[in-house]
Amino acid sequence: NQEIIKTTNVKKHYAIGKQQVVRSVDGISIDIYQGETFGLVGESGSGKSTFGKTIAGLTNPTDGSVYYEGNNVNNLSKKERHRINREIQIIFQDPQASLNPRMQVGDIIAEGIDAHGLAKGKARKERIYDLLERVGLNPDVVKRYPHEFSGGQRQRIGIARTLAVQPKFIVADEPISALDVSIQAQVLNLLNDLKDSEDLTYLFIAHDLSMVKHISDRIGVMYLGNMMELARSEQLFENPKHPYTQALLSAIPVPDPTLSKRDRIVLQGEPPSPVNPPSGCKFRTRCPHAMEICSLEAPMWKEIHADHWTACHLYS
Ligand code: SF4
Ligand code: MG
Repeated sequence: NQEIIKTTNVKKHYAIGKQQVVRSVDGISIDIYQGETFGLVGESGSGKSTFGKTIAGLTNPTDGSVYYEGNNVNNLSKKERHRINREIQIIFQDPQASLNPRMQVGDIIAEGIDAHGLAKGKARKERIYDLLERVGLNPDVVKRYPHEFSGGQRQRIGIARTLAVQPKFIVADEPISALDVSIQAQVLNLLNDLKDSEDLTYLFIAHDLSMVKHISDRIGVMYLGNMMELARSEQLFENPKHPYTQALLSAIPVPDPTLSKRDRIVLQGEPPSPVNPPSGCKFRTRCPHAMEICSLEAPMWKEIHADHWTACHLYS
């Protein structure tokens, strides 16, 4: 398993006001393998989008490092920076907000082609048509404007724009969450097909596990800026180790036979603030298994089986 991304103890802290620090991402060390879909799940405020942006190089970590194909992305030459800006792309949740309303679809898609000098004239035009077809849109739409499309079509335009620069690694930050339920599956299938046809690797961010279950090779679960568990998708669903993952899975209201054996675990209260997180294990204030040590020491991030990681004192 060749890794495309490696993070070592990545932190992203923000100051708010004079005294307070938001520990949005608080020390994450993971690998993302070439060609996989890595599902990243967490409640809002867990830091998953910030971690995604940090991996994509849109923001520098406060501490720790991000490596892309072995190169530290926070320490690149100008030329390498330019290449990586093309190879790593991000797809946002809201296609409406990310498309310039005054630009025609063809020009929106060509932005990256032009910026990176990838094609000109006839080749550029053919590339735009080809991209529209690949995302399931009729090439006749090149001269139309974003407002003339449905949300799902706009997300397809956004995907075509992303593919235009021939990326290798895509951070998809809740790309279907803003879409009607009826078209979520279509866009998800499109992204899944493109992964194979375009040789992509995804970090796929979602707020619930059921959304990433079928498309992810592996899934990481975040809580208050930390990774709580990471495993292959089947393994995580069949044999979750961390009490937080167990609670999330028990809350999925689908008649899945592997889940029905499990008792429902109801989490108490809301997640605490990332400004003043609990000492020791950040999940301890909501954990049904919390012990004395949990408030005293942060649990180590540990591989408990092959490719199955968790941070919990129950396994140390
Ligand atoms: Fe619960 Fe303790 Fe494990 Fe945290 S370390 S999840 S509080 S048992
Ligand atoms: Mg988010």
